[in-house]
Amino acid sequence: MSAPPRPETAPRAAVFLDRDGVLIEERNYLHRVEDAVWIPGTPAALGRLTEAGFWLFVVTNQSGIGRGYYTVADMERVHAHLQREWERAGARVTKIYYAPEAPEQPSRGRKPSPQFLFDAGAEFGVDLSRSYMVGDKLIDLECGWNAGVRRCILVRTGYGAELERSAAAQLTRALVVDDLAAAAAWILAQGSGG
Ligand SMILES: [Mg+2]
Repeated sequence: MSAPPRPETAPRAAVFLDRDGVLIEERNYLHRVEDAVWIPGTPAALGRLTEAGFWLFVVTNQSGIGRGYYTVADMERVHAHLQREWERAGARVTKIYYAPEAPEQPSRGRKPSPQFLFDAGAEFGVDLSRSYMVGDKLIDLECGWNAGVRRCILVRTGYGAELERSAAAQLTRALVVDDLAAAAAWILAQGSGG
């Protein structure tokens, strides 16, 4: 169980995180705990962001549910496993937002929709204009841009390196770094979350 959010005196900044290819290795339609492999340094990076006062949220498209490849319960087992490990590193992720729809199904939150970021803003008092989005696909960056976050960061893990090669012209507004640990270091150099 996560600790309840601490009382707010002022809106805090958040770091919104894609899951596959950012926190854990990209595997097509990952839904088994044994396939969830951390990208090195990730739990510790989440711990440092938590310590600096950032809200953390995972925002993930899980079309494998809508396509019938796996269930919400499968996904939740993976998330419970990830949560145990990041809590051990002192990290607190306040909420995992997921869009279960297949691409052809109507969806409120499926990235690049910014809806889950707006939801986090309304539910937790996140200051989106001081927040960050970290992802490995263009839809992650577009989600952050659509929500008006301060900066979107592309990591070269997952699909990121391939995107950097193939779509550089679309990345001029993004910061590109090697991995989440590097993204966290850059974010922390800009200031705390509180
Ligand atoms: Mg991804």
